[in-house]
This record gives sequence, structure tokens and C-alpha cells, in this order.
Amino acid sequence: MLLRLAWRQSLIRLLLFYLFALGIGLALGEPWWALGIATVVLAARAYWRLYRVLRFLDWRKQLQTVDGQGLWAALETLIHRRQTENRRRSRRLVRLLRAYRQAASAMPDAALVINRRDGRLVWFNKTARHLLGLRYPQSLGEPLADFFMGQPRVRDWLASGQTDEPLTDLPSPADPMVRISLRLIPYSAREWMVVVRDVTKLMRLEQVRRDFVANVSHELRTPLTVVHGYLDMIEPEEHPDLAVMVEEMRRQSQRMTQLVEDLLTLSRLEAQEHLPEEPLAMAPMLVTLRREAEALSQGRHEIRVVDEAGCDLTGSVKELHSAFSNLVSNAIRYTPTGGRVTVRFEKVAGGGVRLAVQDTGYGIPEQHLPRITERFYRVSTSRSRESGGTGLGLSIVKHVLSLHQARLDVESEVGRGSTFACVFGPARVRMRGPAGEHPEDVS
Ligand code: ADP
Repeated sequence: MLLRLAWRQSLIRLLLFYLFALGIGLALGEPWWALGIATVVLAARAYWRLYRVLRFLDWRKQLQTVDGQGLWAALETLIHRRQTENRRRSRRLVRLLRAYRQAASAMPDAALVINRRDGRLVWFNKTARHLLGLRYPQSLGEPLADFFMGQPRVRDWLASGQTDEPLTDLPSPADPMVRISLRLIPYSAREWMVVVRDVTKLMRLEQVRRDFVANVSHELRTPLTVVHGYLDMIEPEEHPDLAVMVEEMRRQSQRMTQLVEDLLTLSRLEAQEHLPEEPLAMAPMLVTLRREAEALSQGRHEIRVVDEAGCDLTGSVKELHSAFSNLVSNAIRYTPTGGRVTVRFEKVAGGGVRLAVQDTGYGIPEQHLPRITERFYRVSTSRSRESGGTGLGLSIVKHVLSLHQARLDVESEVGRGSTFACVFGPARVRMRGPAGEHPEDVS
């Protein structure tokens, strides 16, 4: 509307101006001169208006409201309107940004923004200064990993870009007594946000809990051994009236011993950050697992062991054996007579391997699956007790695997069976030694 009017007015004015110039030119007998001068005047005026607009744009000044008419006035009015809108929007954005910054600064956790490509610091809040010992503005532009010199796992963690797994229990670079945890949050296409939390108190509580469980378990060991010893001395044949009772007492003290041993194993694993890196020959390991399965099954199940991966592993032989045999023992215990248990060692995409223990047993209802690796979590308490379970087996498996940077995959269907698979990354795979170079079926 504004533009159409402006066009029309401009054309009429141009026409009138030229007619006027032509009139004067004719009166003076020099019409071409008059038209030429009129054109020069028009061009000069157009340059002057253009210069005015450009000067305002260049100086980022607010253009004044224009009352005039015509195309130039319309152009200036439009620019003025845009400028006013932009100003309003940027004022609102600045206000919003200020509020966000204030909120981020007031946060009790340290928040940092780093570049995804090189891990350099782009921004950090006030808490980050004293929690990590950063200095403003000197620390900006420095790679975050450089502040954790003695902790190479920070660099690896940042490089891996793991947003689901926080890095926990690290000493703060500002004060090694302060323990911190780091969490990576995808912030924008080019940046990460790192939230750092002081977990000193939490870690201390966790330590107290761990020590308590370890101490109690340790203290229970001796009295249990004594009770066990005395019970073993009672011959049921000599006291037939006590036979049933003694048998039950033996079973219960056996269960308690197993519970204490499992609790101690868990405490030991929790206290460890690294396990020994030993070569683990898988062919003999699979033979051992088969033997253990057969001993537990007592011929009630069909047992198959398939070795398809044709490679070995590195890690703690003792702990991995304990994890694998826990899974085998569960498969036997939770599979009714006549079922089948298959232990399969195979390659997975990406260069890793997995040891899967598959059974055709009772299976686990889906709602229990996320929790079965928690301590003492049982799908059916009576079935677990009956089969001699402590409820700690899968917790131990999970701990052992996480110390090997491996994971436990569980698939299960009620009535059809379950598959528990330990999945290892390529870093854990090693060439098989001369004793078992070829994939073999040891079933
Ligand atoms: P437990 O000593 O009770 O077997 P675990 O930690 O080994 O404890 O296992 C936790 C629970 O997970 C068990 O109580 C059982 O209910 C379920 N579970 C484990 N393995 C299997 C399996 N192969 N088939 C069915 N249920 C299983």
C-alpha cells in the first residue's frame, strides 16, 4: 500500500517536474538545456538521499522518522521500521541472555561450555572458577583436559563424547580432597556443555557404606567358620533324632557363607579401579564352563558350548571366570529339567566379541529386566532361595564387566528363556595362541 502510493506520487512528481522544466525551457528558447539541467538536479537529489540512507546504515544510527513523500521517503520509512523492530528484539534477547547468565552463575554446579572439536573452553560460570581452579578470562580458550593433567581418563572421556555415562569420582584440579563428577550435555552442533558437581560428601557416604558392608561381612566370616566346624563334627548317624535339624542348619550356614563371600567379592570389586590385564585363553575357559555346567546340572539339561570367535581376551582371568560361571550357574538354576543351555563365544560387529549364555528356562518378565543387576533384586525370591541364590550374582557380573569396559546385554521372554551376553570391545580382543588357532566347536 505504502509502496504503491509512493510509486504513483513519485511518477507524478517526476512528470510535473519535467513538464515545468520543459515549460521554462520553451519560454527561454532552450528546451534541451532545461531538460538536461532538470535531470542533473534530480540525479543530485537522488545521490544526496542515497548518501543519507547509507550514512545512517553505516553508523548504525537510528534513522529519523520521515514525513516526506515519494520513493525515498518510503525507503527510509521501511528502514526505520525494520530498525525499530530489530532494536526491540535485540533488547529482549539481551535481557533474556542476562537472565540466563545470572541463572547459570547462580547454579551450585559448575557449568562449562567447550568446543566439541578441540575441547577448548568457550564459557564457564562462577562455580567453575573455584571448583576447578579456572581463572577468568585467562582460562578461556584453553583445552579443558589440560586442567586434568594427572587424569588421562578425562581426555579419553571427552574424546569419546559419552553423554549417557558421567565421569565420576575424580579429584578436583583445584583441591585433590574434593571429589567431582563430570557430565557431558549436547549443547549445540559445535559445543558441549560440561556440568561438574562436587560429590565429596556423596563419595564419603558411599565409602562409609562400602566399608560397613565389607567389615560386617569380614566379621561374620569367623563365627560362621566356627559354627560350620561344629556342625561338621556332629554325625547325623549318631544322633538320628537331630539329623533333619542338623542337615537344615548346615544348609543355612552354607547359604550364609556364600552370602558373605559374595558380599566380600562385591566390596573388593567396588574398591578397585583397575584389574590385572592378563591373557585369557578362551578355549580352556569354555571347557571349564562346560564342566561346571555339567556338575551343576547333574545330567538334567542339554549343554552346548560353541566357540565361533576364534580369539582370546585380555582381562582378569579370575574375575571374568567368576562372571561367566555366574551366568552359567543362573542358566542352569533357572531352567527346568530337560531344558537346554548354550554357551556361545562369537564375534560382534565393530571388532568386539561376546560370550552369550542362552537358556530355555523360565525367562524374566520385561518389567524386571532393568533391575535384575541390582543387589538382592530377585524376580522370584522363593525360586532364587530354592536354587541356592544370594541375589548378588548379577551385580558381581555387572561390576566385573564394567571394570573391563564391557557391558551385559539381557534378552528374555517368559516361558521361552533368556540370553545373558557379556559384550567386549575390540580393545579386549587378542589373537588366539597356537593351542587353539581355529574356531572350534567344543560341544
Ligand atoms: P540369584 O542369586 O538370586 O540368582 P542373581 O543376581 O544371579 O541372583 O540374579 C538376580 C535375579 O535374576 C534372580 O533372582 C532371577 O530371578 C533372575 N535371573 C537371573 N538369571 C536368570 C536366568 N537365566 N533365567 C531366569 N531368571 C534369571
